[in-house]
Amino acid sequence: MDIGDRIRIVRGENIYEGLLMPSDSSGNIVSIKLDNGYNIGFRKEDVELELLEAGRPFSATMPKIYVEHKEELPNVAILGTGGTVASKIDYMTGAVYPAFSPEELLMLVPELSELANISGKEILSIVSEDIRFDDWKNVARTIFKHVEDGLDGIVVTHGTDTLHYTTAMMSFMLRDIPVPIIFVGAQRSSDRPSSDAAFNLISAVNFSSTDCKEVVLCMHANMNDEYCHVHRGTKVRKFHTSRRDAFASINSMPIARVYGKGQIDFLSNYRKECGGGPALDLDVEEKVAMIKTHPECRDVLSCLIDKGYKGVILEGTGLGHAPSSLHDEIKRGIEEGIFFGMTSQCIHGRVNMNVYRGGRMLKEEGVVPLGDMTSETAWCKLCFALGHHEDLTAVKKFMTTNIAGELSEVSTIDSYNYCR
Ligand code: ASP
Repeated sequence: MDIGDRIRIVRGENIYEGLLMPSDSSGNIVSIKLDNGYNIGFRKEDVELELLEAGRPFSATMPKIYVEHKEELPNVAILGTGGTVASKIDYMTGAVYPAFSPEELLMLVPELSELANISGKEILSIVSEDIRFDDWKNVARTIFKHVEDGLDGIVVTHGTDTLHYTTAMMSFMLRDIPVPIIFVGAQRSSDRPSSDAAFNLISAVNFSSTDCKEVVLCMHANMNDEYCHVHRGTKVRKFHTSRRDAFASINSMPIARVYGKGQIDFLSNYRKECGGGPALDLDVEEKVAMIKTHPECRDVLSCLIDKGYKGVILEGTGLGHAPSSLHDEIKRGIEEGIFFGMTSQCIHGRVNMNVYRGGRMLKEEGVVPLGDMTSETAWCKLCFALGHHEDLTAVKKFMTTNIAGELSEVSTIDSYNYCR
């Protein structure tokens, strides 16, 4: 039997039918894709197999369709970086591969043609946990080029795992961009009945017609295909490993709610004007670390200092504290010219290093409290700050000045209540 053949598997009293998929590396498992889209595997020795119908050969190309250009619609580029969202499953092999030409995307999600004239380009094809500094530069450059080409909106498909790092990094690398830059991911691949890929993509393309001039992230807001939330790129975080509504805004309300291809309701202020012309700024320092402080973490910090790190985000406990056993090492690091910024593991709320003695001491030594910034955004911002300034006073000024909506003067309880 060959991959892609339709087969029947008999295991005791139970019978399963589906398309034969590639085996695992041991070769002992037989897997099929069931008609409902789920995969199921059995030990070969436990089952009997029967061929029902020979499959067709695998092809990664899809038939071309004609895409009509409509004057009245915005011109939107969909740029692919990998991940689940704009991938296609070949049901014969179970393989996932990206589908990024406009024709392919429109065939997968035909509603997109009602919303925009779509063009597409694949920048990367990686899982987002593999993203690196050079990839971010590549993504920022490609987005910038499309902005210069006069596109009305840019949608970037991306894996969800590090999506919030990328949106934060892009918020610093791309300044005064006159159109919305909307990142979008999916928690479930497009072959699953519960996939969120199409709805998220439709909502993202719909949002590209707005006057929002920020880097944002558009993802499911609840468990239904009802609406998506648009989150500020510097204020968002992944909260759940598998739920479709995995992302939420931290210490700020989402910017908007998008009902698929329908209505868009704005929920908070957003940037409508931009200062100078668009700017691309790719200077980042790579030797920047982030430590989740925990009991007995002194050696982790010692290693970073010894390895010549230039900056460290300490994700402190509570209001912004670190174990006393760390204080000497922090002091040594500061003496060696390392910048230390403090965020909180609590996720919601803001750092206040004036309340407890330990916090005050660290602050006096030179650890900089970073308000209500998320740790991930603080890490991206510090890479950017140290890429531009050597003088630590200038780094501190940059880190404590709001650049892309990452810092708010006061925190409200609204967003906390909202995302629970
Ligand atoms: N690990 C994958 C990634 O982040 C998950 C996804 O595609 O959402 O690329």
